[in-house]
Amino acid sequence: MCRAWATITCMNANSLLPELAQRIPPARLLQRAEQLAPYESDALTAFRTRPQAVVLVENQAEVIEVVRLCHHYEVPFVARGSGTSLSGGSLPIAGGIVIALNRLNRILHLDPVARTAIVEPGVVNLEVTRVAAAHGLYYAPDPSSQLICTIGGNVAFNSGGAHCLKYGMTSNHVLGIKAVLPDGEVVQLSSSSLESVGPDLTGFFVGCEGLFGIALEITLRLLPKPERYRTVLASYASLQAAGDAVTAVVASGLLPGALEIMDRLAIEAAEASVNAGYPRDAAALLIVELEGEAVQVEHEFAQLQQLIAATGAQEIRIAQDDAERARIWKGRKGAFSAVGRLSPDYIVQDGVVPRSKLGQALAEIERLSAHYNIRVANVFHAGDGNLHPLILYDGREEGALHRAEAMAGEILQLCIDLGGSITGEHGVGMEKRQYMPAMFSEIDMEVMADLRRAIDPLELANRGKMFPADDALAAPNHAPHPLEKAGIISRA
Ligand SMILES: Cc1cc2nc3c(=O)[nH]c(=O)nc-3n(C[C@H](O)[C@H](O)[C@H](O)COP(=O)(O)OP(=O)(O)OC[C@H]3O[C@@H](n4cnc5c(N)ncnc54)[C@H](O)[C@@H]3O)c2cc1C
Repeated sequence: MCRAWATITCMNANSLLPELAQRIPPARLLQRAEQLAPYESDALTAFRTRPQAVVLVENQAEVIEVVRLCHHYEVPFVARGSGTSLSGGSLPIAGGIVIALNRLNRILHLDPVARTAIVEPGVVNLEVTRVAAAHGLYYAPDPSSQLICTIGGNVAFNSGGAHCLKYGMTSNHVLGIKAVLPDGEVVQLSSSSLESVGPDLTGFFVGCEGLFGIALEITLRLLPKPERYRTVLASYASLQAAGDAVTAVVASGLLPGALEIMDRLAIEAAEASVNAGYPRDAAALLIVELEGEAVQVEHEFAQLQQLIAATGAQEIRIAQDDAERARIWKGRKGAFSAVGRLSPDYIVQDGVVPRSKLGQALAEIERLSAHYNIRVANVFHAGDGNLHPLILYDGREEGALHRAEAMAGEILQLCIDLGGSITGEHGVGMEKRQYMPAMFSEIDMEVMADLRRAIDPLELANRGKMFPADDALAAPNHAPHPLEKAGIISRA
């Protein structure tokens, strides 16, 4: 099926390109190999595919026009924000079109009274907070990539971040979406309220991984900037002890803004990279942040200090000012990229386990690390059981990538077996699609496929993502990917 698609795609793209050239100036219609190279992969660099063309759209009308043309010629397309997907979500489709949205980067309207902002999809996450700050507001979802990733990408993946424990994921902060569907129809889903009549179509679109079309305008909820923060850094002699501290905090009834853990290897990487001032001899670090109204935070802080003191922490540090708080977060938020200092290549895995099973999951990951003889750095959103094992390998070594992928696959299976999920926030994309049937029943999968085809019968929008290829259903993770075998994707 995929091979047939690829052939049709190439033929139709040849008809589509002259039409695009009539509407988009050559400087924004990229077709030469050297122009396409930066778009061949996203942050999951193990996969690489060359698209037929990349269109650097500049306004909504151009996005709609390109989608309509793709639909007319039955050419698949992929929306792309900043390409920071860690699951191959913005990987191009061979012979297809990449619609690059970074230039749609305007904040169209900010209403400080209603506490909403209407933004274009290419607006960078942190930019929303920067602009809202003038009104004492901010945008809560804070992926570690927030300096660069776009709101469009966040919407597609229902992205999370360290502070989503208290405030929820992107879906809790998107009120409405104007989108172009894969057939070129433009729709407005809800508008400016979290409560709306009828089915929650905005909720339906958020997390669709680009399969239901392209978001053109997004209405975001803004929150008042917390009056007070209290940030505590505690070091422990073992991961287990840090995990137990998380259990104690949660059991106490406190709801911190963030509850994050980093292990020894992640600490080493963060220190080498940003010199965050973490205790270097710790086996694990716990970051707990309380935030909100000053009176309440101070009350909770007194309780938290007692709690942490009773958890056997080796060292407890309290951020004394904004600069110290920022330094603590710089280390945590830079941890993924910092790991690049320890290893030429790594896979960032993303899975979820029930919080009560965190200790069991970490022990099993340690066992797998010894079994495969592969180093693993753990950085995770402990408060909501969202694991991010960073699996270190050297792609220059024969078979190293496949071994790392096999291990990553075992970790995902572990998450499923413990009653969790194959993704917490990075999405299914290309990387995890073959695990969908392990988590969802056949009926679940059929319903999802029916919904998808109801919106996009030709499967043009982000084709090949999220749903396993027919012949991929039983493929083990370390086997050549079915799309690889079909010559549609290749590995770097
Ligand atoms: C160092 C690092 C740290 C990260 N930390 C986090 C984290 O803490 N939490 C987290 O959740 N993720 C994290 N990520 C993953 C990634 O940043 C997020 O998934 C982010 O939302 C992707 O945004 P993007 O603009 O780069 O989107 P892209 O990678 O360009 O695209 C992602 C998906 O969105 C689709 N898409 C893009 N724009 C639109 C649109 N307008 N309409 C419809 N679909 C669209 C694409 O087709 C693709 O499927 C991290 C990544 C890196 C590299």
